[in-house]
Amino acid sequence: MQSRRGILFILSSPSGAGKSTLARRLMNWDNTLSFSVSATTRNPRAGEIEGREYFFRSHNEFVQMVDNNEMLEYAEVFGNFYGSPREVVENTIVEGKDVIFDIDWQGGQQIRNSGLASDVVSIFILPPSLKELQERLRGRGQDTDEVIQNRMEKCREEINHWAEYDYCLVNRKLDDTEEDLKNILKAERLKKCRQLTLEGLVSNLYNEVDLKS
Ligand code: ADP
Ligand code: 5GP
Repeated sequence: MQSRRGILFILSSPSGAGKSTLARRLMNWDNTLSFSVSATTRNPRAGEIEGREYFFRSHNEFVQMVDNNEMLEYAEVFGNFYGSPREVVENTIVEGKDVIFDIDWQGGQQIRNSGLASDVVSIFILPPSLKELQERLRGRGQDTDEVIQNRMEKCREEINHWAEYDYCLVNRKLDDTEEDLKNILKAERLKKCRQLTLEGLVSNLYNEVDLKS
């Protein structure tokens, strides 16, 4: 028996607040963590690799995946579709391994309302200011001014949902936020509801007491 079920560790934030960077850092820290690679209809950015950042799919292919019930959740974000393939996530958490999601509030809501709700730990990442958010989007150097403008316009809609999450972190210094995320993960892994072998252990302890008395 696995000692625990895996956690669905959901990171959401306005675009540019730092969730992909933080997800990468967490995966470098703990190589048992896996990343839920989403499917998307958006075009690849320079340096993005099929199957690593995303599965890049045509609109028709994406709709087919949705119709086949292959998506755990999906949503339209900034004019493109994004979704989390279901099968790999379900198999991974049964093996007792945790999965990180970098998804928007709509996806977060759908997973929290699914049969996997008790396996979810959700974290909202806030930028210290909108000025800093814009600078991060510019500094990333991967989006046109028009795309950046569009993302800045949509950031309030994303921020509106911060209170739906279990935790909310302000990403000022990357090292500090990374440390906070590690601490959250470590504590959540230890919750008694996640430790599936505790009851057996406790009943063995009781039996040992009986033997000794
Ligand atoms: P998201 O995945 O939320 O869209 P990214 O992780 O791509 O955001 O981060 C956007 C940019 O901001 C990247 O260039 C990243 O290196 C930078 N960044 C992330 N967190 C911080 C931080 N705490 N301080 C300064 N720059 C940051
Ligand atoms: P980007 O285009 O910058 O990679 O992602 C844009 C937004 O889509 C980000 O807020 C990201 O979290 C979100 N996103 C990425 N993958 C998924 C997904 O599978 N489902 C949902 N709902 N949102 C996603």
